[in-house]
Amino acid sequence: MRLLRPLLALLLLASWLAAGPALAAKVPGEPLRRGYESEQTRARPGHLALATSANGELFTGNAEGVLRFNGIDWRLTTLPGRSPARALDTGRDGLVYVGGYDTFGRLAPNAEGGLAYEELLDAAGLVGDQRHLGFVYQVMADDEGVWFRTDQRLYFLPYDGGRAKHWPLGEEVRSFYLLQSRLLARLHGRGLARFDPANGRFELVPGGEAMANVPLPAVIERDDGLLLVARDGLHLATDAGVKRLAGAASRLLDGERTYVARELVDGSVVVGTLDGKLIRFDAGLSVRENLDLGNYGVIDLAVDREGGLWVATENDLLRLSLPSRWSLLGESQGIAGNPNDFEWHDGALWLATSQGIQRIDPSPSGQPRAARQPWTEYEAYALQSTDAGLLMGVREGLLVLDPGARAPRTLFQHPHHGVYALMPSRFRDDRMYALTGPNLMVLRKEGGRWQTSHTIDLGGISVAGIEEAAEGELWMGDTRGPVQRWRIDPETGEVLGRQVYDDSRGLAVNPQFGTSVYRFEDRIHATSGERGFRLEGDVFVADLAPPVTLVDRAYELAVEQTALGDYAYTSRELWHRPPNAREWQPLFPGGRGLAGYSYLRMGSDGVLRIATWTGLLQYDPGEAWVTPHPLQLGMELVLARDAQGKATPLPLRSEADQPVLVPPGHSLTMRFAMVSMESGAQFRYVLHGVTPDWGEWADRDLFIRALPAGDYVLEVQARTGTGRQAPTMTYRFRVLPHWYEQWWVLALGLLALLGVGLLGALWVVRLRTERFREDNRRLEARIAERTHELEDANRRLAELATEDALTGVANRRALENGLRREWFRCLDQRRPLSVLMIDVDHFKAYNDAHGHLEGDVQLRGIAQRLSRQHDPQREQLARYGGEEFALLLPGVHPSEAARRAETIRAAIAASDAGMTVSIGVAGAVPELQAEPDSLLRRADAALYAAKRAGRNRVEVDAD
Ligand code: GH3
Ligand code: MG
Ligand code: MG
Repeated sequence: MRLLRPLLALLLLASWLAAGPALAAKVPGEPLRRGYESEQTRARPGHLALATSANGELFTGNAEGVLRFNGIDWRLTTLPGRSPARALDTGRDGLVYVGGYDTFGRLAPNAEGGLAYEELLDAAGLVGDQRHLGFVYQVMADDEGVWFRTDQRLYFLPYDGGRAKHWPLGEEVRSFYLLQSRLLARLHGRGLARFDPANGRFELVPGGEAMANVPLPAVIERDDGLLLVARDGLHLATDAGVKRLAGAASRLLDGERTYVARELVDGSVVVGTLDGKLIRFDAGLSVRENLDLGNYGVIDLAVDREGGLWVATENDLLRLSLPSRWSLLGESQGIAGNPNDFEWHDGALWLATSQGIQRIDPSPSGQPRAARQPWTEYEAYALQSTDAGLLMGVREGLLVLDPGARAPRTLFQHPHHGVYALMPSRFRDDRMYALTGPNLMVLRKEGGRWQTSHTIDLGGISVAGIEEAAEGELWMGDTRGPVQRWRIDPETGEVLGRQVYDDSRGLAVNPQFGTSVYRFEDRIHATSGERGFRLEGDVFVADLAPPVTLVDRAYELAVEQTALGDYAYTSRELWHRPPNAREWQPLFPGGRGLAGYSYLRMGSDGVLRIATWTGLLQYDPGEAWVTPHPLQLGMELVLARDAQGKATPLPLRSEADQPVLVPPGHSLTMRFAMVSMESGAQFRYVLHGVTPDWGEWADRDLFIRALPAGDYVLEVQARTGTGRQAPTMTYRFRVLPHWYEQWWVLALGLLALLGVGLLGALWVVRLRTERFREDNRRLEARIAERTHELEDANRRLAELATEDALTGVANRRALENGLRREWFRCLDQRRPLSVLMIDVDHFKAYNDAHGHLEGDVQLRGIAQRLSRQHDPQREQLARYGGEEFALLLPGVHPSEAARRAETIRAAIAASDAGMTVSIGVAGAVPELQAEPDSLLRRADAALYAAKRAGRNRVEVDAD
């Protein structure tokens, strides 16, 4: 134990604030506590001894062996013969020494990272019957070694393995007390004596005989002497003798069945009794706490590194935060019902609860009790302490306890409308606002007494938060609708104005939640549902700054600015921003489980209190507290597992330049380790390159699947149940490549691959060239085929066409068809059919002189002129080929056709194109035995004749 003392002394931050005159009396709450029962320890209830080790772990001597607790899980180390562990102490070598039945020894690390019991009977040189020790009642470690004490003997074993010693003990020897430099013992019938190891004798200390017949559970070294914690009270032993101490604590302890005591880091002393009491008194012997832990005796006490006092009882194990600034007032202090409001008033703590008004006075015995006041039958909602008395809002109305009065005066009474909130005016100390169901009441202070002044109908608002922004300017949230601003004349109660702030003024009202207002940093804030708003000028804007952005239930948010900093809370969360700090921090006064924050206020006694679902949390900045030892996060276990499940342990730590080597294809199983007695440790990690970001907070087991070869960095964070965070741990590992991933294998493989690749490439090139050729051939054949097909198609197309592309008149095909059609029609009708063959004269010469394109132009011109010379309805003009045209004239006699030909010839010759044509004419009434083509041949012959006759003339077929 004493090993921890200098350490803890360093850590101690006993910041006793100078207590003002009004703060003399306090109502101490109970320390926050947590119980550990068999369900958690999985061992028999009842612990016989406690010890804490240098790394912060807790050890308990249990009926089944030694239990070790790291804040997360419990592990049992059994002793030979299933002996109980009766006594424990931590040696200067960091090991835990154990006394059992017929055995003593120590817990030493084993190969698996656990602890194994190492019996020291051989080291003590005990043989034969000497080993029948019976119970080892006491284990005491000092600078040189460890003392073990049985019924009949005292043993000493040096740490350095030097010669063990032992001394016989008489029947009268009771407890030993190991002090800094000496060993004391109480000898029944004789008194308190000093043990001299040189001769094994006891020598009474001055005045020691005062303890001759009084059980003496503890001797505590103090500056002014030895504090003797005896069954009959407290005594101080000095060189001048032993003198009984006066003081509340000494009187209280007289007659208690005190069994164990120890000093805490702030100099206070805790005493445990066989009746289950835990009493703490300070250096001035004032009683601080007097707790009833139940009907089981307190057997041992131990202190951990995080401000925890461990209490082993015959039944279970408790951890109390002690000393601590946080404490709890609840059922154990007689508080009845759920607290709604509280006030420090007239040197006492007043509570408004679901069961009325209660008052708790500071008590010199350390056991404050709530006293119910018979002033209301029902619930009490609100309290306000003023210099003109305590105002109390209750279900039936409003009461005031005038200064000096013993019973309250009724200010207002109503069968249905109680007063559920009280708010002093921020601008006038003689004005107070009280909210009843439908109304706002203004109270007025006159002659040092509160009076009701006037009542204002709120018009159906269900008020959620009320704030005074300027004198008479009240802002109210409404659980059913938008925020409202009321202007009231504080003198007359006249409503001067009323303004609604809804969507039209930037406040998006969620109809499910309505609105709520709070004042923060001199500004009106509002929430509706999950959204926060802030008043800017005369409109609300979205509030995107903490605290509203921090909490889950924005609609519950309340904010309080105090001398200890700003507090923001909802029923589930509590955030704190210390004075002058920028960041808000989550606060978990009693661990994550304790919540239900409903109201927070700093009393005039300087204590911050928070009403919760179960009681009143208190934060007393004047109390001592322990700066917890910095948390240390590490690995408890790292296992690499192959595909068959075979596991290999890996190093628990990696150096920056030396990653832990992980065999290829192995998955990793990791277990993080962090010793913290602040329950509910959680862990989260990021595996760089594998996981994108920090994961969720989870337990300490991590499984990583087999990863590809490469370097990895795992970062782990941990936090305790009270929100403390450990420095980030970094674990670097390198997943080794498979044999086939080795560089030379890879290089060879690459070369081989390159060779094969080259061969392959060549082969492919050949294959492809061949294929190209084949393709080409096929393509060419197809092109030819297609060309052929195309020609065919074009031909067929051309055959289908009836118009000559160049001149726009009918083509030869159309002429032939027309001729056939007209031939047979004229045959049927016995009518003549004539045809003119028209050929341009010397056209070749023209082409040669002017070019083919000019020739084309001329051809088109001639075609147009010819066109004008025929009746398209009945007659057909066609380009017969080249510079040759034909005109089909059904029903026209050859002589008439000759006249037409002459007209045409003359018209062409008369044009300024300088062209002439020769025309051959043929006509007849078709005959059955003749062929249509004969007509064309005859016209052609006539044309030939015309050419021969000198051109630019008409010749008619002789037949
Ligand atoms: P003739 O008076 O004996 O008919 O003499 P000609 O030069 O007109 O007769 P020939 O049959 O010797 O020549 C016909 C010329 O018509 C040959 C050719 O150059 C030309 N020709 C045929 N078709 C076209 C065409 O579509 N456009 C052009 N510009 N010239 C054509
Ligand atoms: Mg010709
Ligand atoms: Mg011609």
